[in-house]
Amino acid sequence: MKRVVSGIKPSGELTIGNYLGAMKGWAENQHKEGYENFFFIANLHAITVRQDPEQLHKRTVDIVAWLITSGVDPNRSVIFVQSMIPAHSEICWILNNYVTMGELGKMTQYKDKSSKGGKDGQIVGLFDYPVLMAGDVLLYDADEIPVGVDQVQHVELARTIAQRFNNLHGETFKVPKATLSANTSKIMSLNDPLKKMSKSESVESYVAMDDDYDVIIRKFKRAVTDSENLIKRSDDKPALSNLLSIYSGFSGKSIEEIENDYSGQGYGKFKSDLGELVAGALRDWQTRFSEIRNNDERLDNVIREGNAKAETLANEKLRIVKDKLGLH
Ligand code: ATP
Ligand code: MG
Repeated sequence: MKRVVSGIKPSGELTIGNYLGAMKGWAENQHKEGYENFFFIANLHAITVRQDPEQLHKRTVDIVAWLITSGVDPNRSVIFVQSMIPAHSEICWILNNYVTMGELGKMTQYKDKSSKGGKDGQIVGLFDYPVLMAGDVLLYDADEIPVGVDQVQHVELARTIAQRFNNLHGETFKVPKATLSANTSKIMSLNDPLKKMSKSESVESYVAMDDDYDVIIRKFKRAVTDSENLIKRSDDKPALSNLLSIYSGFSGKSIEEIENDYSGQGYGKFKSDLGELVAGALRDWQTRFSEIRNNDERLDNVIREGNAKAETLANEKLRIVKDKLGLH
């Protein structure tokens, strides 16, 4: 049996980048034989930038409902909330002793996020984020971590930490590997195709899962494009290439098929069709989301049962680790 573990931070409204790069693959791969899946709401990661407490709690439950809406089945996959399992915080402290300042300083997410807030942005939690993330997956003996490209560097560090610990203390952690969605593992900002789409950036740079129909159409119309008015993917046309990836992710068509469909046509028609494609899909999901989100009792049960399953595994691994270190 192989185990899949991955998470999402409740740090903003979920975007189509989160959906295409992570959640879509989570839902699809649940049906593979021989896999167990664990998906969590990474609220301890979210507080590495300031959050409004009420909003943070609301978004935590929203994400559970979005996971179910996008096809993650709580009967097949364990859904849990990171902060409710103390072993995550505890393993992070232990693993902090198996990583260096130099290794953490190289993480591009830290450099990007900390540079925004000046001196006040240099939060220790932000610096330590990859260690908590290593703990998140090592606690569960994860084999595969389905993430977007932006998280691959962190998974690599989790591997380094696991190997280092195993070398010093004997086989303890499984060494996990990152897995990526084809075509859609790095969806870029609609304003700047050289920057990743992120839920914590400006609202015009992303499409949120709960954006209104008209807003989505408008965002795609305004999305930046490249100079040559041709629907053909290429490295020197990052903006169009990104829109093609989004089209492919939502339509299930390959990039070549889409290029053929639009041969001889310009950006205008392509962008308005893309807007309708995404807005239409999300409108249906938003209806389903409202129903799921309104059923508090069911969501509470999903979280409670998920937490219980996750906690059993996490506590067992933590006990083994503490025994090895003489922390008993
Ligand atoms: P934040 O800006 O707060 O970091 P985010 O949009 O980057 O938010 P995360 O919660 O950090 O979202 O990441 C959740 C998952 O979504 C991760 O697996 C991450 O790799 C993936 N992901 C995030 N943004 C993208 C993107 N633009 N394209 C593909 N995958 C993405
Ligand atoms: Mg992120």
